[in-house]
Amino acid sequence: MIMRANLSREYPVVLARPHHSISRKSIDTNALKVLYRLHRKGFKAYLVGGAVRDLLLGKVPKDFDIVTDARPGQIKRLFANGYLIGRRFRLVHIKFKGDRVIEVSTFRKTPDPGMDSNIGTRRTNTYGTPRQDAFKRDITINALFYDISNFSIIDYVSGLKDISEGVIRSIGDPNERYIEDPVRIWRVLRHAARTNFVIEDNTARAIYTHRYRLILCSGARLFDEMTKDMVSGVSRVFCQLMGFYGVLPYIFGGIGTFFEQDAGAFKELLDLLGVIDNAILSGKILSYEIMLSVLFWPWIKTTLVHLDKEGIDKSELLYEELCKNKMTITIPKHYKANIVKTGMILKRMLKALDTSQMKWSLRKRARYLDAATICYMIIHKRVPDEKDPFKVIFDQRWAGRKSLDATQKIRHTRHR
Ligand code: ATP
Ligand code: MG
Repeated sequence: MIMRANLSREYPVVLARPHHSISRKSIDTNALKVLYRLHRKGFKAYLVGGAVRDLLLGKVPKDFDIVTDARPGQIKRLFANGYLIGRRFRLVHIKFKGDRVIEVSTFRKTPDPGMDSNIGTRRTNTYGTPRQDAFKRDITINALFYDISNFSIIDYVSGLKDISEGVIRSIGDPNERYIEDPVRIWRVLRHAARTNFVIEDNTARAIYTHRYRLILCSGARLFDEMTKDMVSGVSRVFCQLMGFYGVLPYIFGGIGTFFEQDAGAFKELLDLLGVIDNAILSGKILSYEIMLSVLFWPWIKTTLVHLDKEGIDKSELLYEELCKNKMTITIPKHYKANIVKTGMILKRMLKALDTSQMKWSLRKRARYLDAATICYMIIHKRVPDEKDPFKVIFDQRWAGRKSLDATQKIRHTRHR
């Protein structure tokens, strides 16, 4: 039984090993090595964040982050394979074979108000207690500690209760937390999508109040966040939540507004994201080029209808349109160029499926295969295995009809 912890209480709820499901067998061996060494040297050593959350939910964690009361310099001295990371050398990355990295940080406390006005970027941190460290985190289910000294779970923020009840809840006043760092809005939606948990009322309401603050975030950071959600296997639900909470315009500028206003285009986007999710969940790997082209396709399709200026290359116009949208998120230039190239080829492919007139020299273009893959996804609602997926759909549609046309012609001639 778990008691609900008062958020202001000094002492945490501690769940001893017999009362929870986290076994050392499911913890990464490198992470265990780091935890044990810190513990043997007399430091507190806790597994924290996504790893504890995912293990309690029976999922395989992506990474295993560790917090300790050892200072970065002390951590580094304990591990020959440790590297100080970050502007102020606040973290230590411990590197293992096969490019595996365990991130170790020292317990932190919230910086004094006004110490850092640089919203959406890393803040200046000072070291703190485990309790302060927990309260600095974003949502309750992400602030649980697994203590290697006795295998217990330490909970200062009622995260265990929220995990068992399926609730996404901001730690502290969500208004203040979103003002401090608006990316937390994104993270609330991300974790709601991944866990299928309900967003607690205040946490949800404050999103509407503060969503516009996403325009203050670093575009590069938002792009980084987006790449994680595109491969999460729940990008469809995540995007649906973004739409529901009205955050798309603050991230994608005019393109976000377009998706808000055109329900058909938004549905097309969600359907395609669903296709990507199924592919990812079945272990397929898709390039960022393809995923980004999918994201912008419904907008490109509509925009191309209106783009017709004599004598000007449509792809140039499309690129200009894409750049005009005042997106907060920074899509790197080469991705933007590829999104446009793919969109142009895809448009011709879909037309060719209607007319049977295909310019096959397009096959030599760099983004032909990306466009062919998306074309297949649009038609068959799954990611293709074929080498030239467009040729397959084209032949399916036209090979039969052409021979039919030819037979009809012969009959017609004979009747004359
Ligand atoms: P994932 O499975 O995506 O790695 P995660 O919860 O581990 O999920 P990370 O981005 O790896 O997410 O962050 C690690 C931990 O750091 C989080 O669990 C959370 O406790 C804390 N954290 C991350 N971003 C923020 C933020 N913007 N504000 C407060 N705490 C944060
Ligand atoms: Mg993580």
